Amino acid sequence: MYNKNIETLPLRELRALQNTRLTALVQRLYKTVPFYKNQFDVIGLSPNDINSIDDLHKIPFTKKTDLRDNYPYKMFAKPLNEISRIHASSGTTGKPTVVGYTKADLDVFDEVVARSLACAGARPGMKLHNAYGYGLFTGGLGIHGGATKLGMAVIPVSGGMTERQLTILQDFKPDMICCTPSYAQTLSEALIKNNIDSKDLAVKYAVLGAEPWTEAIRTQVEQGLNVSATNIYGLSEIIGPGVSQEDFEEKGTGSYIWEDHFFPEVVDRDTGLPLPYGEEGVLVFTTLTKEAFPVLRYWTNDICSINYDPNSKRTHIKMSSIKGRSDDMLIIRGVNLFHTQVEEVIHEFPSLSPIYQLIVEKKGIMDGVTVAVEVVSGVDVESLALKQQLIKKIKNSVGLTMGVMLKNPNSIPRSQGGKLNRIVDKR
Ligand code: ADP
Repeated sequence: MYNKNIETLPLRELRALQNTRLTALVQRLYKTVPFYKNQFDVIGLSPNDINSIDDLHKIPFTKKTDLRDNYPYKMFAKPLNEISRIHASSGTTGKPTVVGYTKADLDVFDEVVARSLACAGARPGMKLHNAYGYGLFTGGLGIHGGATKLGMAVIPVSGGMTERQLTILQDFKPDMICCTPSYAQTLSEALIKNNIDSKDLAVKYAVLGAEPWTEAIRTQVEQGLNVSATNIYGLSEIIGPGVSQEDFEEKGTGSYIWEDHFFPEVVDRDTGLPLPYGEEGVLVFTTLTKEAFPVLRYWTNDICSINYDPNSKRTHIKMSSIKGRSDDMLIIRGVNLFHTQVEEVIHEFPSLSPIYQLIVEKKGIMDGVTVAVEVVSGVDVESLALKQQLIKKIKNSVGLTMGVMLKNPNSIPRSQGGKLNRIVDKR
């Protein structure tokens, strides 16, 4: 562990730390950010009413639209001359939001990423192939800072130019790679295409995040790159990557949220009421330590559940993998649908690869979904039996009848280093 004292802090002490940090933050935000003063004043809430995280539910949510309304700097809680860096979200869902960091914030960013990489299997002295995009996106520089802090040698490859990535993997012999899961799929296919045996590479660990993914992709990437792949989660509004991380020895049990810095809640998507541990809803975060761009109860739109794991090495809470963003959720003939649900079904078919798209279009007055999915090489795309089995399994598991289009290998667009759109909405 990178920071054993904190990562294994008894829960009671963790709560005490969170309470102290939250009360100080609320007092400060009320004085420095007009948006928060107004949020409190309109409902007659005083900063003195917030004495512990048990009072959090009294505070209204902060939503992405609030950040856009205060674009670019009005949410900053520090004067601009104290800001060390400015980033923006990738803008997947519209105008990007702008976030700022003081020097102390960058230290926190480095700390949580260092913890995350260690949790994924990294050790000082290892080499990291960083294929997250460098630039306004928090991924590249965020991972870079944390890896440096941990004592790794960073190879700042950034995204794209797949041939060059392969050369670096072969010649520079990195021990770990960080990229989006869809790009890891692209790389693992490129190895095969170029007749490179993954066993000849030194890479042992892959840290994948920035978009939703499931066990289907884990299997493909672990086999294709000959690595142990874990999940990293984060968003610019909270800090960037490193809000949570899966342990390489506890795969499939969720990702630790570094809750000494980021306090999580899961709330009902419609009512906003907090949900019990284990129930699925919208993930909401309060940043406990950030100086330049703190947020109270930020509505991430990401759907998951959180729970403590009594069998884990650390005391911090874990989050399940993200099903999708609530604004990415399709409502088809009254049924809620995330593309990851279809991905899980595809995983059950050894003759299908987890390279797929959901095509949504109007069929008469109804909306219809067709799953375009690639078969593994040697499988017949005309196989009626395979099509029918897939249609049936999807119907049983998702509750919708979907069309199925089996595609030849390499016929669906690949990720070029960024986030891949799994849904083609033609409506
Ligand atoms: P944008 O919201 O414009 O894409 P970010 O680059 O800040 O900006 O992306 C953060 C979002 O990316 C998260 O809110 C979440 O939807 C998604 N994301 C990040 N990491 C993961 C992950 N490990 N699993 C699923 N989704 C993720």
